[in-house]
Amino acid sequence: MKVVYHDIFQVVYDYDPAAARGRLECIVEELCGAYEFVEPEPAQENDLLLVHQPGYIEYVKSNDLLYQVALFAAGGALKAAELANRGEPAFALVRPPGHHAGRNSCWGFCWFNNIAIAVEKLRSKGAVNKVLIVDIDLHFGDGTDSIYEDTPEVSYYHLYGLDGLRDCLSVNTDCDLVAVSAGFDMHMKDGGFILSPKDYKPIGNLVASHARRYCGGKFFAVLEGGYNQQVLGKNVKALLEGFDAGR
Ligand SMILES: [Zn+2]
Repeated sequence: MKVVYHDIFQVVYDYDPAAARGRLECIVEELCGAYEFVEPEPAQENDLLLVHQPGYIEYVKSNDLLYQVALFAAGGALKAAELANRGEPAFALVRPPGHHAGRNSCWGFCWFNNIAIAVEKLRSKGAVNKVLIVDIDLHFGDGTDSIYEDTPEVSYYHLYGLDGLRDCLSVNTDCDLVAVSAGFDMHMKDGGFILSPKDYKPIGNLVASHARRYCGGKFFAVLEGGYNQQVLGKNVKALLEGFDAGR
């Protein structure tokens, strides 16, 4: 399990909670020493165009600082997907998040849909075809869902309890890759009041076991929400431990 990360994500590019000071540092502190860190390149405009409309990209570009950080966030997801495609699971520790970004719209602290860009890059190269996106953020990833509404090869699933996840995986045994939109705001101390600290490991375990059994070990995750810096690092680590344990 590799962690894809760049110091540019420490930049406070906006006033929203996803851009808050210290948010990524607390995760880095928790993972540092336990995982190998690798740096991404920024995404190219052609990568963004796999998912977004040209006019929308120009709109984001009008905020230069945000655009530069967002290019690296998409690049982080691309790098994690590339590693996953080689059978090396990876976690993209990036911001801004992406699952509320549609082809031509955004809200909820998201700008480019990092996970969709990464999935489309692999699909455009013919590396994978059928993909399952599992979103464990508190909020429904309406951007991702809308991007794929006319693409039967890519299924979007929003977490509804561990039994729901098991059911979802059991009917998606023919996918080539699992991508996880890893938000942590469903945690009981992160505004969601739903998941306890001990839930993240089994979630990771279920996804990783499934990917290793049916998808040649191809899976990766990308950070979405999660804002309580007291618990965020530990929750991310628990998910990654679950990924490692799912053998
Ligand atoms: Zn959220």
